[in-house]
Amino acid sequence: MTYLASPNRYDTMQYRRCGNSGLKLPAISLGLWHNFGGVDTFEHYRDTLRTAFDHGVTHFDLANNYGPPPGSAEENFGALMKRDFKPYRDELIVSSKAGYTMWDGPYGDFGSKKYLVSSLDQSLKRMGLDYVDIFYHHRPDPETPLYETMSTLDLMVRQGKALYVGLSNYPAELAAQAIDMLRDLGTPCLIHQPRYSMFDRWVEGGLLDVLGEKGVGCIPYSPLAQGLLTNQYLNGVPDGSRASKAHGFLKTSHITETVLIKIKALNEIAQQRQQSLAQMALAWLLKDPRVTSVLIGASSAKQLSDSLACLNRLTFSAEELNAIEVILA
Ligand code: NDP
Repeated sequence: MTYLASPNRYDTMQYRRCGNSGLKLPAISLGLWHNFGGVDTFEHYRDTLRTAFDHGVTHFDLANNYGPPPGSAEENFGALMKRDFKPYRDELIVSSKAGYTMWDGPYGDFGSKKYLVSSLDQSLKRMGLDYVDIFYHHRPDPETPLYETMSTLDLMVRQGKALYVGLSNYPAELAAQAIDMLRDLGTPCLIHQPRYSMFDRWVEGGLLDVLGEKGVGCIPYSPLAQGLLTNQYLNGVPDGSRASKAHGFLKTSHITETVLIKIKALNEIAQQRQQSLAQMALAWLLKDPRVTSVLIGASSAKQLSDSLACLNRLTFSAEELNAIEVILA
């Protein structure tokens, strides 16, 4: 059936300015790393993407290698773009990235101009798009000169293949250098995409300060620690959950007794706040104004709707924040 987006799609979402740029992003963005690949079910991911857009999630995040198999998330998204979202292209922020291994040989990985240019061309073809809204360098390259990588990002914008550029997984000092370099090239860095959640707070050790000072947005990925910061694993490992699957990076060995104790204690605070744990974990990140948007994953429209409801309660009392710190310590 032809998809018609909900006329109420902009009623409840909040939009936050990305650093000092002109672009606003939804407080919650949806990533297609897992659950949208060749191994996943079309009806499921179509439902999730439609539900997202119907609730004002205007930002979908991809990368060349998302799947599995690598490339399949962009292909599937491209098919849905053609079928469902084409009339809404100008209402969408679509991002892609390159930086991890994508094809054999010396030109299919890291940060050379050769790799990045070919990879973005492939991504555009897979998604059936003329341009991406944001193109990221996915991870630092210890060998390629930073200037080569940054000037390639600048080139992509000048060629009209990307509107904005971003960095991902860059540590604070290197991010600062790259941001300054991009500014000097005339293509300001829009955003940084680091891993950040209650369980992984490395960005608080300098990166967030750099981004705040330089007016660059921040979009934390894996804000639910891949599902650990939800009610998923409170009573074991459910069939079909990420930890139960052979592919992916969340392993049952990560769900230790210590982690479970923390999850249960956090869940109690969430219940007192009349929120799900997922909602509290997202609200906890969004309390920092330097965080533009949280980049969630979802394996169903139901999960997505649950996460979106975090917007109903974003504030914390000092007592709640203290209690959370004690648990996370
Ligand atoms: P999350 O931490 O949000 O984990 C998502 C998983 O949590 C879901 O697949 C689901 O697990 C579970 N979940 C989500 N919502 C709920 C809920 N309300 N209740 C219960 N369980 C829930 O993020 P991801 O790790 O998926 O990463 C999000 C995005 O970040 C990616 O899609 C990608 O775009 C980006 N990313 C970027 C990286 C980078 O290097 N730049 C690296 C990794 C991710 P289940 O599947 O078990 O049901």
